[in-house]
Amino acid sequence: MRILLIEDDPRIRADLATTLEAAGYVVDAEADGEEGWHLGDTETYGAAILDLGLPGMDGLAVLKRWRAAGRDLPVLVLTARGAWAERVEGIDAGADDYLAKPFRMEELLARLRAIIRRSGGHASPVIEAGRVCLDTRQMRVTADGVPVSLSPQEYRLVAYLMLNKGRVVPQQELAEHLQSVHFERESNAVEVLIGRVRRKLPVALIETRRGFGYLVPEDEAGE
Ligand code: CA
Repeated sequence: MRILLIEDDPRIRADLATTLEAAGYVVDAEADGEEGWHLGDTETYGAAILDLGLPGMDGLAVLKRWRAAGRDLPVLVLTARGAWAERVEGIDAGADDYLAKPFRMEELLARLRAIIRRSGGHASPVIEAGRVCLDTRQMRVTADGVPVSLSPQEYRLVAYLMLNKGRVVPQQELAEHLQSVHFERESNAVEVLIGRVRRKLPVALIETRRGFGYLVPEDEAGE
């Protein structure tokens, strides 16, 4: 899943990017508010982490412009410690959650997972589809209870489709979530990845809807 990180402090930005990448996310990191706003306005992200004090355009203005334009990506706002007025303003402007600096990376990752889950309509960190189970805390996929060994990119693919269970995900959207904006996108990269994941999973999980995209179907019994 691709995350947009907008933070002007170079040390925090680098630490966050490293942590997020180690946690399996693809990260586009920006220091400037206006540049970050533009990326969020034109690219597809699973979530954004947004600092409020930014050069170019402040974080609240970035968030308000996204929301006014109907961009509904989940946003985690970073605020200064004790700045309760900022937090209230941020939530009123459409933030999904906030975190006061300084924070522990573990807490940031937990809050990020939570806003991503909620945006997909899942309250639990564990998502099941048929005989396959995804644990977003441990970044682990099991089939019939047996762990499936996946590369980070394969995991991201399975996680994104399972978080969007019951919806046909267009190939273009998948490609956008699997690769950073700074990399060239190969036209058949998604198909190749889907093929690799299907070979690794001992059960059928992902359906192809030719010309539309890929689907992890809802369980037959319903939920
Ligand atoms: Ca700042």
